[in-house]
Amino acid sequence: MTSAEATAHYFKKAARIMDVGERIETLLASPLREVKVQVSIELDNGEIRTFNGYRVQHDNARGPMKGGLRYHPLVDADEVLSLASLMTWKTAVVNLPFGGAKGGITVDPTGLSTKELERLTRKFVDQIQDIIGPTRDIPAPDVNTNPQVMAWIMDQYSKYHGHSPAVVTGKPIDLYGSRGREAATGRGLLYIAREIARDVGLPVKGTRFAIQGFGNVGSHAARLIHEDGGIIVAVSDVNGGVRNPKGLDVPALFDHARKSGSVKGFQGGNPCGNEELLTCDCDVLVPAALGNVITKSVAAEVRAKIVIEGANAPCTPEADEVFEKKGVLVVPDILANAGGVTVSYFEWVQNLQHVTWDEDRVNTELEKLMREAYDRVANISRTRKLPLRTSAYVLAIGRVGKATVLRGI
Ligand code: GLU
Repeated sequence: MTSAEATAHYFKKAARIMDVGERIETLLASPLREVKVQVSIELDNGEIRTFNGYRVQHDNARGPMKGGLRYHPLVDADEVLSLASLMTWKTAVVNLPFGGAKGGITVDPTGLSTKELERLTRKFVDQIQDIIGPTRDIPAPDVNTNPQVMAWIMDQYSKYHGHSPAVVTGKPIDLYGSRGREAATGRGLLYIAREIARDVGLPVKGTRFAIQGFGNVGSHAARLIHEDGGIIVAVSDVNGGVRNPKGLDVPALFDHARKSGSVKGFQGGNPCGNEELLTCDCDVLVPAALGNVITKSVAAEVRAKIVIEGANAPCTPEADEVFEKKGVLVVPDILANAGGVTVSYFEWVQNLQHVTWDEDRVNTELEKLMREAYDRVANISRTRKLPLRTSAYVLAIGRVGKATVLRGI
């Protein structure tokens, strides 16, 4: 199954249970627009290199489309389409006035200099500036993109359209970014973990978490869960991982990662490979790196009782079935990692109103929206006896479907 087929599978499963009808199902299943561009730049050595860039706009029934921009060698049209549709459902689950989109460039950014990255980003904006905008489609950070990349996007877009901070979110605080945005996905995940903990009677304090990925999502999740009393028994990043069944010293781990650029080689535990991390002895597994890492065979070996999807689509549908059979509770990406886009929404609101919120306000509002979303999803799950993922899709499809019908076909 390709990535796009996997998200279509979840969508169809929920749509059939809801009986939305063929007409609405057809409307919601296909993307509004798929754009592919060739981004040619001059490298520092004078060579010309061309990269593929994508922006897929999936649905705008509930508002301007919203979604990140990923720089990774595995980015392709299928993956971006899948991620764009996930954004439609994610923004609907948290009830944000947005639709869904996603973009990316097929590139290994670690092989480019800062100047080359800047040229690549600006050139990409040149090619998509007429289809994005504060009321059309608002990009944001995703894998390997950061506040600096967002600043370049804002600057380049503004050259065409005038000063437009609301065209992109996840900007640096000093350039119209929102307080709390950087940690928002990890913080949202913590809020969801607390809700789950209450429901299953396993408080975060004293629970053993294994976290795959130490980027924007995984690192903040590890820090915040640790601050909440959770025990982090394993973490990993692209270079390797580290494990300690008694719990890692998280502040010391951050120190090590800051100095060496990786969690690998941290002395407060034993080295641990990525697969070993996914199947290690823990209570809660948080895959917060790339998609499709938990396949059917990995799922069969997973020992955690709860999986919270920090990344987008980390479990394949086959793995999801294995978890269902094993009675593993899976908190789906479109709920678990919605904290990022939620604070992106707050950033957009602040930009449009020319105001700045303090961090407490951001975090309080984030907690409120995450809890509301969790309550709704958990309620559907309880009353209709459905897994959390299907329940989240039922909630989202209901909202997007209603907006679609009300606007008129
Ligand atoms: N890339 C993030 C996601 O997948 C954030 C998107 C946004 O803030 O628009 O949810």
